[in-house]
Amino acid sequence: MTLAFDPAALTLPAAHFIGGDFVRGAAALDLAAPSDGRALPPIPQADAALVDRAVETARAALKSSGWAGWQPRARIRAMHAWADLIEANGAEIARIEAVASSRPVAQALAGDVASTAEQIRFFAEFADKEAGTLVPTADSQMGFISAQPHGVVGAITPWNFPLSMAAWKLGPALAAGNAVVLKPSEMTPYSTLAMAALSVKAGIPAGLVNIVLGDGPGTGAALTAHPGIDKVSFTGSTRAGSQIMETVARSGIKPMTLELGGKSPQLVFADADMDVVLDSLEKGILPNAGQFCVAGSRILVQREIAEELAAKLAERFARPVPAATWEDPAGFSPIISEKQLARIDGIVGAAVAQGAEILCGGTRFDRPGSFYRPTLIGGVDAASPAITEEIFGPVATLQVFDTEEEAMALAAHPVYGLCAGLYTRDLGRAMRLTRRLEAGTVWVNRYGRTRDHILPTGGWKSSGLGKDLGREAYLSSLRTKTVLIDL
Ligand code: NAD
Repeated sequence: MTLAFDPAALTLPAAHFIGGDFVRGAAALDLAAPSDGRALPPIPQADAALVDRAVETARAALKSSGWAGWQPRARIRAMHAWADLIEANGAEIARIEAVASSRPVAQALAGDVASTAEQIRFFAEFADKEAGTLVPTADSQMGFISAQPHGVVGAITPWNFPLSMAAWKLGPALAAGNAVVLKPSEMTPYSTLAMAALSVKAGIPAGLVNIVLGDGPGTGAALTAHPGIDKVSFTGSTRAGSQIMETVARSGIKPMTLELGGKSPQLVFADADMDVVLDSLEKGILPNAGQFCVAGSRILVQREIAEELAAKLAERFARPVPAATWEDPAGFSPIISEKQLARIDGIVGAAVAQGAEILCGGTRFDRPGSFYRPTLIGGVDAASPAITEEIFGPVATLQVFDTEEEAMALAAHPVYGLCAGLYTRDLGRAMRLTRRLEAGTVWVNRYGRTRDHILPTGGWKSSGLGKDLGREAYLSSLRTKTVLIDL
């Protein structure tokens, strides 16, 4: 399949999707392609009245379709058909992603599109395998726990993996019998719209998947404040997550899943395999130019190998070559916006002003588009924002430790606890530290997610609440009812 195309000839959907129809609105938010700054179709902004219409549409569709009461196998078939259609339209969706977001088109097809379809299939399959449970009671009684959908799920997703993030929300919710109103990021809304529209063609009743467009303070806040939302599922920054908690609490007590930010450490001990470490560190920070939540941006290295690791890693960081996301399949990704690039540069500059040493990068690439060089910084002050703040860019810091205790002290972050990486050949140490690290996921001698959707993901501390992926995500799309019958 050839993926070469003219970005100017691509049609990007830029309307809300409610009740199975595209609903247009006045252009409200301007967008630009990160690869070259070209203007993209502006999107409308859903106000509280339109959000209300979407929520009411979702509730009415649940009732009229009887979705939650379908034979589970019929729900599964419809969701599989949707996944098939996403794959069949994969080239088009990948192009939309390549133009509007930060991913080269071939990566969007092999990564985003493929895993989105697979995630939908994965969640669909729970529909006829997980039910309530019978509980032990006296002979004269029968007790059981039945599991039922929440109703209408309000979902909000970030800009960085629009398709997967939507699948993480829509997949478990629909499989469990819910309807969804989803607000994608105002920065990368188009691919979510393209995939959502296919749900109806696949036989999922219109109105079960609704997409409202707009920004966080406007549309996002209206959605999370809506009393008709029965569960909130959010992925994004810790800042927005805590605002959402406040907003939701004002309209009622309801279940919430929050997948938030991180500042994840990678601990490299002197006995680790250096080649494994280098490959893994690179994969832990450079894909998508570091714009992923689990980025392992704080590298902690034992003193004996610190110099060797710094030199070899700097060599690798110097290699990536940027390219427009619709041109080179192996191109290094752009930063999503000029504003975000300026923020990254500011954090690096502040670290240098505090005495840090740039081992590689530290500037933007000299070419059109928002491209920032892979950057490695040593000797960073522990209080510098480069160490404390989530950068969301291709920037890693190097800190040196002598003992396990020092490594653990450096690894602990006062706010975040999303992930951690650990490299050692000492099994005892691996087990000891895995237990102690304060993170929702710990990777040993490798870093990053695989396509294994059964592994749940979610943060500790202010990195999140609840889990996406895995059985946990499906179960959290259901609420349980305890029933006791006197026989
Ligand atoms: P963001 O928090 O700025 O925005 C995320 C979404 O929330 C957007 O749709 C935005 O419009 C909306 N939003 C913002 N403020 C809101 C509010 N007050 N009420 C309702 N909605 C609001 O994040 P981003 O820049 O799009 O994405 C990057 C962040 O997402 C990073 O912090 C990253 O770590 C996090 N993230 C986490 C995971 C995870 O699984 N833990 C996955 C991907 C991204």
